[in-house]
Amino acid sequence: MARALAVHTMLSVDLEQIKKYNVPGPRYTSYPPAVHFKPELGLDYVINQIRENNRTTRDLSLYFHLPFCKSLCWYCGCNTAAANKAQRLATYLDALHREIALVAAQLPASARVRRIAFGGGSPNALNPVDFIRLFDELVLHFPLEEPVVSIELVPRALTAEWGPVLRAIHATRASMGVQTFSPGLQQAIGRIQPTGMIEHGVEVLRKAGVTSMNFDLMYGLPGQARPDLESTLQLTAGFGADRIALFGYAHVPHLIARQRRIDASALPGPQERFRMAELGYEWLAAAGYRPVGFDHFAKPADPLARAAASGRLHRNFQGFTEDGAPVLLGLGASAISSFPTLLAQVEKNSGRYRMSLSQDRLPIAHGKARSADDRRRGAVIEELLCHGRAKVCRPLLDDAWELLAPYLDTGLCELEGEYLVIADRAVAYARSIAAAFDPYRQHSPRRFSSAV
Ligand code: SF4
Repeated sequence: MARALAVHTMLSVDLEQIKKYNVPGPRYTSYPPAVHFKPELGLDYVINQIRENNRTTRDLSLYFHLPFCKSLCWYCGCNTAAANKAQRLATYLDALHREIALVAAQLPASARVRRIAFGGGSPNALNPVDFIRLFDELVLHFPLEEPVVSIELVPRALTAEWGPVLRAIHATRASMGVQTFSPGLQQAIGRIQPTGMIEHGVEVLRKAGVTSMNFDLMYGLPGQARPDLESTLQLTAGFGADRIALFGYAHVPHLIARQRRIDASALPGPQERFRMAELGYEWLAAAGYRPVGFDHFAKPADPLARAAASGRLHRNFQGFTEDGAPVLLGLGASAISSFPTLLAQVEKNSGRYRMSLSQDRLPIAHGKARSADDRRRGAVIEELLCHGRAKVCRPLLDDAWELLAPYLDTGLCELEGEYLVIADRAVAYARSIAAAFDPYRQHSPRRFSSAV
C-alpha cells in the first residue's frame, strides 16, 4: 500500500551530510540498469527469450524511439541527432516500419496493446505526414485495444498542424520539454523557446484533446537562482500543467560531449541544488500538486497522482508511470524492451540499426537476463522509489545492511516489521537508499550523477 507523501521540509543542507548520503547512482528506470547490459547474450538467446516471454503475454505496452530533433540542446544525453537530413530520416523510418512488422509477428494471438508511447528525440521533429504513416503502420500490425497514447513534444516544433495529428491518433497524454522560462538560462543551455511558444504549444495540446499535460523542468542549471526556479514554477502552474517532472541537471561532460558547451563555473553547488529541490517540492505541494516518487508532481485528479495514492505507481524507462503492463516492447534505435525475465536493447547506432533491418534481422544489440535474485531486488528498489516503503526479506536486508546502516542510524529510513520505510524528509535520498539493494552498482562517481 502506498503511503501519502506529506508536504515536508527536506534535510538540512549541511555539506558534509550531503556528501555522505547523496551517493551517485543509477536512476533505476530498469533493474538491472542499462549500463550492465551485455552483448554476449547473443541474438539467438535473446530472440528465444522474447518468444518464451511472449508466449503468455496478454497486456503489453509499446514504446517508439524517434531519435531526431530540430536542434540539439547542450545539456541533453538522449540518443538523438539533428533532423536536417531528409534521406537519413527516410531510411530510419523505413527501418522502423520493417521492425514493426518483425516484432508484431512474434506476438501470440492473446496479446493486446494497451499503451503506446512516442519519445526520442522529439517525435514532432518528423514531418506530420511521416508520423501519421508510422502510426498507420503500427495500427496495421499490432493488436490494439483502446490504447492510451502518449507523446513527448518539443515546443519549438509544435506547429498548429500537429493539433489534428494528435487528435487523429487519440493522444491524451503529452509531455513538453520546457526546462526553464528564463531567457538567460535558456541561452546558457542552448535551448531558446520564448514563453509565447509554450503558450501556443499548450493551446495546440488542449485543443487536440490532451487531458494530461506534463512539463519537464530543471533545477541546478548554470547561473540559475531560486527566484528563476520560482517564476518558472509559477508560469508552469499558470499554464495548467497536470504533471510536472522536476529534474536536477546532471553535468557529466566526460559522458555527454554536448555538455562541454555549458559553463561549468556557473553551476550551483550541492547545497544550492538541495535548496532548489526543496523549493520545488514545497512550492508545488503548496500549489496543490501531489508529490509522486522522488521528482514528479501531479494534480490530485491526474491518473499519475491517483496511481501513486492507490499503490499502483510503477517505474519504467519513461520514469514514474501508472503503466503496470508486464511487457514493454521498445522499437527504434536504442529502445529497450522489458520482459519478466529479460531486458533487451535495440542497436543504438542508427547505421547498424538500418543495416540489420535491411536484412530482416531484429536489431537487438545488448541485453540482460533477469535472474530470480534480480527480480526480487528490482521489486524492492521499485517499491522504495515509487512508494517510499518496501517489504524486504531477511537475506536481502542482511546483504544491504552495511550500506543501509548510515541511513538507519540517522533515521533517514527505518524498519517497521518486515518493511523498510524511507522517512518523508529523506525523499531526496530515496535513490541512494534503494541503491543499497543493488549489487551491480559501481561506486565510481564518474559513471552516475548524484541523486539531487
Ligand atoms: S529537444 Fe529534447 S531530445 Fe532533443 S536535444 Fe533537446 S532535450 Fe534532447
